[in-house]
Amino acid sequence: MPVTLTSSLAPVIGDKSAKPLTKAFGMQTVGDLLRHYPRRYLEIGQLTPMSSLEVDQHVTIMAEVRAIKTFPFGPGGRRTRTEVLVTDQTGEITLTFFSRVFGIKTGDVGLFSGVVGSFRGKLQLTHPQHDAIGDRLARGVVPIYPASAAAGSVLIERCVGLALDAVEDLPEVLPDEVRRERGYADVAASFESIHRPYSVAEGMAAKARFRFEEAFVMQTVLAQRRHRATASTAAARPPRDGGLHDRFVAQLPFELTRGQQEISDAVSAELASAHPMHRLLQGEVGSGKTVVALLAMLQVVDAGGQAAMLAPTEVLAAQHHRTITRMLGDLSRSGMLGGAEGATRVRLLTGSMGTRARQESLLDLVTGEAGIVVGTHALIQEGVEFADLGLVVVDEQHRFGVEQRAALVDRYETRPHVLVMTATPIPRTVAMTVFGDLDVSVLTELPAGRQPIQTNVVPIADRPAWLERAWERVREEVGRGRQAYVVVSRIGDESSDADSPTSSLVELHEDLAGGALHGLRLGALHGRMSADDKDAVMSAFAAGRIDVLVATTVVEVGVDVPNATVMVVMDAERFGISQLHQLRGRVGRGSEPGLCLLVTTADAASPSAERLKAVASTTDGFELSRLDVSMRSEGDVLGTRQSGFRSSLRLLSVVRDEDVIVAAREVATAVVEADPELAGHPVLAAAVAALEATDGADYLERT
Ligand code: ADP
Ligand code: MG
Repeated sequence: MPVTLTSSLAPVIGDKSAKPLTKAFGMQTVGDLLRHYPRRYLEIGQLTPMSSLEVDQHVTIMAEVRAIKTFPFGPGGRRTRTEVLVTDQTGEITLTFFSRVFGIKTGDVGLFSGVVGSFRGKLQLTHPQHDAIGDRLARGVVPIYPASAAAGSVLIERCVGLALDAVEDLPEVLPDEVRRERGYADVAASFESIHRPYSVAEGMAAKARFRFEEAFVMQTVLAQRRHRATASTAAARPPRDGGLHDRFVAQLPFELTRGQQEISDAVSAELASAHPMHRLLQGEVGSGKTVVALLAMLQVVDAGGQAAMLAPTEVLAAQHHRTITRMLGDLSRSGMLGGAEGATRVRLLTGSMGTRARQESLLDLVTGEAGIVVGTHALIQEGVEFADLGLVVVDEQHRFGVEQRAALVDRYETRPHVLVMTATPIPRTVAMTVFGDLDVSVLTELPAGRQPIQTNVVPIADRPAWLERAWERVREEVGRGRQAYVVVSRIGDESSDADSPTSSLVELHEDLAGGALHGLRLGALHGRMSADDKDAVMSAFAAGRIDVLVATTVVEVGVDVPNATVMVVMDAERFGISQLHQLRGRVGRGSEPGLCLLVTTADAASPSAERLKAVASTTDGFELSRLDVSMRSEGDVLGTRQSGFRSSLRLLSVVRDEDVIVAAREVATAVVEADPELAGHPVLAAAVAALEATDGADYLERT
């Protein structure tokens, strides 16, 4: 049997070597090993000289064996300890093995890798992995692999060598002309170059090829999805003159911003086509995405269809329901007193609604009486039937499971149009991967007259009095008829975190009521309250019957109370950059400037304090998201569900490799357009299928 990438590893490199590799890296196949690429390359002359070894360092050294001594040890002296003295031009070090050692003799020159330890004041390597220098001297370059103590770089290098010599039939994923155009070597030569280069440059060139390959396969998956989405059909929902849409525009109390107008026009045209719209609307916090969505929904209703808006929380669903009903006024009161001629009905559907209200909503959906429904994931459940669902709007996508959206959309033979809205600005590269099958519109402009938000960091570790000043500011705002949010990181009714140094909602609410904010009308809002209670509190706050809302991050997304002008965030270092940006977007939504106070006990020199400073320094969400992404690891950026997918990314960084992703996307799109089912590219088709099959492919938005 020829050895291929899918062959089992142990027979090729031997059980004894395979074991530590499987244990440390989960390697099972020859492919797993060959795709374990060097972290970097060192020219022989750059290997760590012995004079500069440091304890706990993971090192690979080249040295000559000077002396080998064995000593008996252990009970009865039945075991053997071996000490090998090795030297280079700069010094010497002892290698200690608690066994006999084979394959090393005096005068040999070899590579040794391991973790530097110290024994009786002298540096040593215990059980280093070793290999004869062999033809590495001729090549002049040593690859350094991601390693562990039991699976050191030298061991990996030796095993890779065995695998490279044995493997046949390497699959070429890149189409020939792509490879030629980009000047990449073929796959066999590239594996050779990445593991056994004759120069650092040769290794790097091979890395570039495999990096591109990763981006290319991923973008081919996405290009195929885009292709299928456009090939499928949707009901065309053209605008109707004098319909609800036009009447709503006529009664809007404000002018649309230019951005809102442009995106609405584009959306309108897409809704009118018989292919499903599939658009991501990214908009800065407070940029007015809801109106854009509402206009789209009304066009669909005018065309005889229904629109569903999915919100990530009950608070937000209830708020959207209220806002939309209010904005539509008599246009939303079909069959009711004061309802306009040709009006529609707006329904709410959430998991915690009473049976009767739920039945009413369901009935209006199935009969088509309700043109618009706003809801949570309850909208996706069995038993929710629409008369004619034409548009799904997903608000604040980052909180919403991809599968959940798919569950609503995939059910129907003719697909509804889809508009996804998010206020979390996503860097271009991430949008191209995570949302790679969506067209993206960006709403950057805020409505005219919108007031800036001033953000201050309030470090109370060394200046406790500043917290008092913060509460004073809250009192001042309330004194002027304004409202405030106080945001905390935990609820605090659970005993488990009683010792936590952070403020809890329960305690702070009590403290403030009896102290700094005595006499003001306080309310509390958190995720564990019943839906009715939450709704009652939000309505009271929206109506101005509560002055200060002490809340957890349930207020993070989308909550819109224009009269709120100040927000105090307690233990602000507990929150991420994007989250803080979202949070402060709750103030400064009316005609008054907003103030956000980030209260923190973090040390001024700590990374947390740096993040808070960054948030305070700009209100540009895109700038902040770039920062956020650069401060987080790749896995965080792509999300937790994408483990399988992430494991297929070995060289590509979604954060750093924008140019590679852009190029790969272009090439992949062209390949898919010319050959949608990849009939002429069987190897690529197999790679695509393999990626789709990983759990991680879920991350890639489904249509
Ligand atoms: P977000 O994009 O954060 O979801 P919203 O849609 O909630 O923002 O809009 C924020 C506020 O701005 C709302 O009170 C909304 O009525 C108002 N608004 C939206 N568009 C405009 C506009 N063109 N001019 C003035 N106010 C607007
Ligand atoms: Mg919103």
